[in-house]
Amino acid sequence: MLAKTKHFMKQANLIGGEWVQADSGAMQGVTNPANGLEIGQVPTSGAVETERAIAAAAKAFETFKKTTANERATMMRRMYEAMLDNVDALAELLTMEQGKPLFEAKGEITIGANYILWFAEEARRAYGRTVPSPWADRRIMVTKEPVGVVAAITPWNFPSSMLARKIGPAIAAGCTSVIKPAAQTPFSSLAWGVLAEEAGIPPGVINVVTGKASEIGGELTRNPLVKKMTFTGSTAVGKMLIRQCADTVKKVSMELGGNAPFIIFDDADIDRAVEGAIAAKYRNSGQTCVCTNRFYVQSSVYDEFVTKMTKAVEALRVGPSLDGNNDQGPLIDEAAVQKVEELLADAVEKGGKVVTGGARHELGGSFFQPTLVADATTDMRFSREEIFGPLAPVFKFESEDEAIQMANDTEFGLACYFYTQDLGRTYRVMEGLNYGLVGVNEGVITTPEAPFGGVKESGLGAEGGAEGIYEYLDTKYTCIGGLGL
Ligand code: ADP
Repeated sequence: MLAKTKHFMKQANLIGGEWVQADSGAMQGVTNPANGLEIGQVPTSGAVETERAIAAAAKAFETFKKTTANERATMMRRMYEAMLDNVDALAELLTMEQGKPLFEAKGEITIGANYILWFAEEARRAYGRTVPSPWADRRIMVTKEPVGVVAAITPWNFPSSMLARKIGPAIAAGCTSVIKPAAQTPFSSLAWGVLAEEAGIPPGVINVVTGKASEIGGELTRNPLVKKMTFTGSTAVGKMLIRQCADTVKKVSMELGGNAPFIIFDDADIDRAVEGAIAAKYRNSGQTCVCTNRFYVQSSVYDEFVTKMTKAVEALRVGPSLDGNNDQGPLIDEAAVQKVEELLADAVEKGGKVVTGGARHELGGSFFQPTLVADATTDMRFSREEIFGPLAPVFKFESEDEAIQMANDTEFGLACYFYTQDLGRTYRVMEGLNYGLVGVNEGVITTPEAPFGGVKESGLGAEGGAEGIYEYLDTKYTCIGGLGL
């Protein structure tokens, strides 16, 4: 482990600027999914510690909301610099607890830094407006104000950059936050506390509490001092949090599950489609909410795609991620492997053909072979359920309308992808797909400059882009009368 990695690896909660343990002193282990060994421990906290963190955030908000946008942007630029200066250490920490290849971890830290820079810039552009008044002696003003204390609950698949998309706009808007990271990957979230300290962000602006998910989540949703809940994770937990937030009518933004289709039309550049398909499927071992869940290939190019894709899948190098030269690491845990096995067994039983892979990897643990299943049909479970693993089902279709209909036949609506070289088809299909994110001839499209968010049961609100900061701002209308005009 790099010396700097140790520096970022905090085994404590951050509450009001103090690194503290749970009241009970209880701790829980965090393991490296590549070898099952414990890399450290974090506090097993509950409602009491969370309430204290919320109080600290509420207190810090009273002064932080009065800072100027320029002051906040300056702090955030320091945070951005600190991240770039420490990419190696932050990436090592991320790979140790999450398992993704080191090059992907460095990519995640870098994109997280870019989100911080983007929101540092957006802080200065959170414009309100004046409106032509219908009254001669009154004036109308619309201004933006920070919502207040934000609760952020994050998943294990992008433990660093998912937070960049939440605390970036929160700090930019002048809000303070209480963060609850996923139990599997708390260290990358706690590292944000260290980065905040190094950037001179005042105590209490960023608070992190680790431990019991439902207790911490219960307090974050119950406590009236929390004004907004931002969540990334499963649709089931997201729905529950929305319900829990109803009693105190909190603003919510939700980045939930996906079931991304990836359509390859007969006029597509197949080699380019294969390249995009590999990135859109096997990145992070298939564990992203925008990962392709269903490949739809037009019948005349089906065999060509399957042949070329199989070759590319077989070229993926699987191995421990810290080695630095592997393309696919382990899955997050045993449960994730079992889910892939279940979906695979279901498909095989219903006539799916395993073209490559199809079993646990010889490295053991939670390593799984990159897998491709041809002859996929809509009665197979993965046509409805998120796979979240390195398994690519390939379906066949005949017409454009059929492809659109199959792609839309899901309650989810996060990312979708399609490959074509026909301009008219590009617009028809783009407008026909009910998704929040559309990649045309591209398999990876996330960037801070563009909004990221789903429709249907994939979520509410958007992160990033010009939209992102408004999730953290309330709108105030002021009418000034009696001006004697
Ligand atoms: P995943 O399947 O990606 O683990 P989850 O929705 O289970 O998705 O987890 C995402 C985040 O939600 C994690 O931080 C997890 O600890 C948290 N979480 C899970 N259950 C609850 C709950 N009852 N209340 C609050 N947070 C929860």
